[in-house]
Amino acid sequence: MSTRVRCACCWSSFPVALEPFPFDPEANLAPYAAHSRNSHGRQHPEPTPPYRTEFQRDRDRIVHCGAFRRLEYKTQVFVNHVGDMYRTRLTHTLEVAQIARSIARALRLNEDLAEAIALAHDLGHTPFGHAGQDALNACMRPYGGFEHNRQSLRVVDTLEARYAEFDGLNLCFETREGILKHCAIAHARELGSVAARFLNNQQPSLEAQLTNLADEIAYNNHDVDDGLRAGLISVDQLQQLDLFAAPYRAVTAQYGALPPRRHIAETVRRMINAQVCDLIETSAARLASVAPPDLDAVRAQPAPLIAYSEAMAAQNLALKRFLYRALYRHPQVDAMTDEARRFIQALFTHFMAHPEALPAETAKKAQNLLSQQGIRGQARTVADHIAGMTDRYAVAECRRLRLVQPDPGSSV
Ligand code: MG
Repeated sequence: MSTRVRCACCWSSFPVALEPFPFDPEANLAPYAAHSRNSHGRQHPEPTPPYRTEFQRDRDRIVHCGAFRRLEYKTQVFVNHVGDMYRTRLTHTLEVAQIARSIARALRLNEDLAEAIALAHDLGHTPFGHAGQDALNACMRPYGGFEHNRQSLRVVDTLEARYAEFDGLNLCFETREGILKHCAIAHARELGSVAARFLNNQQPSLEAQLTNLADEIAYNNHDVDDGLRAGLISVDQLQQLDLFAAPYRAVTAQYGALPPRRHIAETVRRMINAQVCDLIETSAARLASVAPPDLDAVRAQPAPLIAYSEAMAAQNLALKRFLYRALYRHPQVDAMTDEARRFIQALFTHFMAHPEALPAETAKKAQNLLSQQGIRGQARTVADHIAGMTDRYAVAECRRLRLVQPDPGSSV
């Protein structure tokens, strides 16, 4: 194998021999892990990269794409610009990737694939967090709905425009299947092989399964941390939950009265550790007992093999229910939700009535899809455009188009 490189001084090009990997970088993976060499491939065939595995290349393409950079300015739970200490969609994504890699390595699964799935899992998220998604879904209800998992797949399959030979990032099947965590049956029929498991009752790869749970571990724990920081939930409330109370008491017993922020940080890190260790140990025991000979056998299982113990699953559920009730439905978060809904609805209504107000290339696409698919095509282009916005760009667009102004004193 050879390639041509250019001299830095005279810019003339000359051939250089390339030695492919001198070793198999996936040699130590378990037989049931996803191996690059067995990948179901890319939609557009490409030569194998000489010094990276296929899943490493997927990860790199995701990190370099535009939707990934915009995650920095998108809300996780707390509106992006209310404070510099809160999680954003980007820092959430990095926490998911870190947790997913740790679990994958401990189980001898493919760390590169888990990382790629984690880094891409929220690429389709709207501005203003779940409030934004719910609002856009309501707007899109007559036109096929909007769901952020499907949108993340849409970003990597068609919306990113970076390569000369294809739309999207042309990722491997295994990365795309991991991004599509949930899918309604009606939509699964439209999406083809990547969604076939929802029709055939099959499981995704173990890397997809663990990354799904790494996402939950990351947001449950960082929402406790951010919720306490914002003063929307209290240590007294959390003491009712075993998952928080046990490590909180252990920190008190070990260190006495620490400054509150340090006490909380020490507690939250122990919560994450307890969940990750339980997940690894329970999953390792299940894998040892089922002993799937390969990934096909994993897919054929009646249920996911990556799972918590029953005790940890119950504690986890109690924490999720608490966060839903006390944090995600807190009046201050609700106020942000109402305002986000106004912004998204105003943008959607305006662009549907005035597609010429979209950026030129998007307006042209909306026009083409309108003639090919009717009003659903135009609506999908408008939804793609709004979903791609950052919080601050959505607000700026509302101002520019004189649609709605933020409430005085509002966090949005
Ligand atoms: Mg997430």
